[in-house]
Amino acid sequence: MKRIKLHWWILIGIVAGILAGWWTQSFCSDAGIPVESTAAYAAFDGLSTIFMNLLKMIVIPLVFFSLVSGMQGMGSLARLGRLGLRTFLFYMGTSLLAILTGLTLVNLIRPGDGLNVTVPTEPVGKEVPESFWEVLSNMVPDNVVQAAADFELIGVILFAILFGAFMLTLEGEKKDVLSRFIEACSDIMMKMTGFVIALAPVGIAALIAKLVSTSGPELFWEMRWYVITVALALATHLLITLPALIYIFTRRNPYRFIWTMSPALFTAFSTASSSGTLGVTLRRAERGAGISNRVASFVLPLGATINMDGTALYEIVSVLFIAQVHAGIDPSFTLTFGQQLLIVFLGLAVSIGAAGIPHAGLVMMVIILQAVGLPVEYTALIWAVDRVLDMGRTVINVTSDSSVALMVAHAEGEVSESVD
Ligand code: ASP
Repeated sequence: MKRIKLHWWILIGIVAGILAGWWTQSFCSDAGIPVESTAAYAAFDGLSTIFMNLLKMIVIPLVFFSLVSGMQGMGSLARLGRLGLRTFLFYMGTSLLAILTGLTLVNLIRPGDGLNVTVPTEPVGKEVPESFWEVLSNMVPDNVVQAAADFELIGVILFAILFGAFMLTLEGEKKDVLSRFIEACSDIMMKMTGFVIALAPVGIAALIAKLVSTSGPELFWEMRWYVITVALALATHLLITLPALIYIFTRRNPYRFIWTMSPALFTAFSTASSSGTLGVTLRRAERGAGISNRVASFVLPLGATINMDGTALYEIVSVLFIAQVHAGIDPSFTLTFGQQLLIVFLGLAVSIGAAGIPHAGLVMMVIILQAVGLPVEYTALIWAVDRVLDMGRTVINVTSDSSVALMVAHAEGEVSESVD
């Protein structure tokens, strides 16, 4: 019998999850009991938590060993610098294109015009950083063990890059022994990741079942044009912009590449966390798409934390949506051209600063709203529909990281023919 590929298992898991969640929800509403009190919900919750924990458990050691080992393969700091510059330019470029897409669609569709809503009173995200500098300085950890324990990936990456860079200056036996040790650890982490990925169909099924069993469609109605605008903009970036870039820069079939990466994209969709997905992304990029460890281990962890096209696009659409709603309530409110530019700049900055965890983009939006004088209470409105949009934008975030990894690897001559 032909072996069924992982992608298909995951798709089967998604369908099973939708059916199980839907069935649980309708059973409970017929019987008049809360979903959360059922054994089925407890199982969905337990299984999805185990899967999420496993994913997160492997990320920190995987990133550290994989990044340091990749840097040793690079041989020199100059080469690392070139790779870093290329990665950075691609990351900024894709994010700006995403912002442009969001900007165009939100101005064409104008989802906030004439929307009759009452301004909520409870804002979301009180723990938000005060300023841009605070976002930036938060990236440098004062304690790397603490950063690892708090799942602050950016701090761990920074430490790993410094560690790897100074390891390059070692010589002789010391260097050989340490290199081999780190390479072995990196191999073990890759294998552990493979093991966790094999559980993905069940984990994803549980995550989807939990979501479906507890959410109702009603809330989407009022906000439908906003949801449609975000979804359309995300889809444009996923299906047109990124594929076009992949084709232009690598001449490869972009859709085939996206399909190869799809286990990572499904994981991103169901977990809404690009950092949590990182293990799957790394493994698919190396073992599935043939991107070298040197490039993947550098580009992808950085991307999971600083490159968020979906988030950038979502910030722009949401802030302008809120501005449109607010203008309906307070007709004297307008955004100057300078303020719109500021929104674009802050949208990009927020997407860099936001962590790759669920709802991070929404919490950080407060920075932009405050900067242009919009009431932050509006975030409560968006919160109601954020889960599903978060799932969508996380898929785009991970697709963009993977696409940039492919383009950089191609430019460096580091893509082997597809393994899978
Ligand atoms: N959940 C997103 C991610 O992990 C971040 C966001 O909230 O926009 O990529």
